[in-house]
Amino acid sequence: MYPGNPATAVEPSRTRSRSNTEPYTAPHTASWAEGLAALRARQQRTANTALAAVGLVGGVALGLTFQAIWPLGSTLADLLWAASVLAAVVGTYGVLILLVLIARLPVLERAIGQDRLVVAHKRIAPWALSLVAAHVVLVVASYARTAVVSWWSELWSLNTTTPWILPATAGLAALVLAGLTSWRHARSRMRHETWWTIHLYTYLGIALAFAHQITAGGPFMTGWARALWVALYVATFGSILWFRVLVPLRRSWRHDLRVAAVVRETPDMVSVLVSGRNLRALGVQPGQFFNWRFLHPGLRYEAHPYSLSGLPRQGMMRLTVKALGDASTALADVPVGTRVLVEGPYGATTPVRVRGSRVVLVAAGAGIAPIRTLVDTLGAHLPVDVIYRASNPQDLALAQELRGLARPNRVRVHLMAGSRTTYPLTADHLYSLVGPLSDADVFVCGPESLNQLVERSARELGADPDRIHHEEFNL
Ligand SMILES: Cc1cc2nc3c(=O)[nH]c(=O)nc-3n(C[C@H](O)[C@H](O)[C@H](O)COP(=O)(O)OP(=O)(O)OC[C@H]3O[C@@H](n4cnc5c(N)ncnc54)[C@H](O)[C@@H]3O)c2cc1C
Repeated sequence: MYPGNPATAVEPSRTRSRSNTEPYTAPHTASWAEGLAALRARQQRTANTALAAVGLVGGVALGLTFQAIWPLGSTLADLLWAASVLAAVVGTYGVLILLVLIARLPVLERAIGQDRLVVAHKRIAPWALSLVAAHVVLVVASYARTAVVSWWSELWSLNTTTPWILPATAGLAALVLAGLTSWRHARSRMRHETWWTIHLYTYLGIALAFAHQITAGGPFMTGWARALWVALYVATFGSILWFRVLVPLRRSWRHDLRVAAVVRETPDMVSVLVSGRNLRALGVQPGQFFNWRFLHPGLRYEAHPYSLSGLPRQGMMRLTVKALGDASTALADVPVGTRVLVEGPYGATTPVRVRGSRVVLVAAGAGIAPIRTLVDTLGAHLPVDVIYRASNPQDLALAQELRGLARPNRVRVHLMAGSRTTYPLTADHLYSLVGPLSDADVFVCGPESLNQLVERSARELGADPDRIHHEEFNL
């Protein structure tokens, strides 16, 4: 068990009394708050610099393209060709941005957070892919018009006679397949591993498209434009190789991570204790997660994201996992001594986001993991309410430990085992537990429906929408 501070937990009242809503007396630690504000300002500057860099490099790429295609020809075929080059430049740049967003660059991970980076990746992807597809349509239309042949025969001739066009077509097919399988409805019908494997092929697809840019890219690939695009590709693929493969491997081996114990917490949740050398050097913040790969038969080929439920302490850290599918269920039987590889730490749902003078943490199910690590740090500086909901008492993981963290006037723990009608977490119910929320930051981690419900209730109680933070368990 991770040690806490012994005191009395606040068990929930079944009637909606307002007895728990008295203001706390604990002081807000000013220097801590100033430190967080400075850190947030630094992260904001990083995010702004990253955006400015993207704009600047994109502007240079576009400028070089215009220089190459200017003056525009006067025929329709010329105009179609110019449009196809522009679509290729903007679309390819968009595709490289998609890769950078998921390259796990530490500065972006810290400043923006993986959840938001993934959201940006999902938003940009359809535009980038559409532009690359438009490039193909426009270039075929242009050449077909010049050669006075049908589009199909032009497409066939391009693929069979021009070097590297056929691989580029295959590359586009891989990109389109990745896009289609990421569509919400399609993705929910397939295994995560299938979706992930299809996504791996997009790297190959993009590399194949690069070859046709060098050989047939015309204005894309001459003079300064050539140097710029080669540099962009090298930087993008180099970052992915470095941050997603080499750094995690080196870090995992250096810290010698191994399963130290598996502890059953509830009928469907276990905690896995992972031991290692000098774990503090991992630099993990409360609320963060790693992608974990357990080198055990049946698990070694998949990495899964799990938040830490115990920060590195005395050579040990802990994750708490709910059995949802094959991999999370198999963790209950992972043998002690199994080597563990981690990628991370990731996630920006950390104390840095706190701007209010008190904090309300709401968890359900496995959502208790990141909430648990937030309690220690936040409780040391601000008044904290922890609300943890489950259907049955035996489903409240880490309940004993949470009770031990309660401290009068500082940390209140509301453990709620019962039905949604008993503990609905509506605005009225939330008010009975924590009062008005205009001065509070609210962190919520649970199923999507609970996240949305608590967000609505918190807004009704006056919480600033920018101070409602949730950790999504599906990226
Ligand atoms: C940032 C983050 C933190 C998380 N923290 C925890 C935690 O502390 N405790 C916990 O119990 N669960 C956590 N999860 C959820 C956990 O990752 C999934 O439950 C687990 O990956 C399921 O894998 P499976 O093979 O057992 O189930 P499956 O049946 O394969 O999948 C069940 C669900 O998990 C999703 N999923 C599966 N693999 C991955 C993956 N590699 N990346 C993202 N989503 C995946 C699937 O899309 C599906 O929605 C977290 C998820 C994220 C994104």
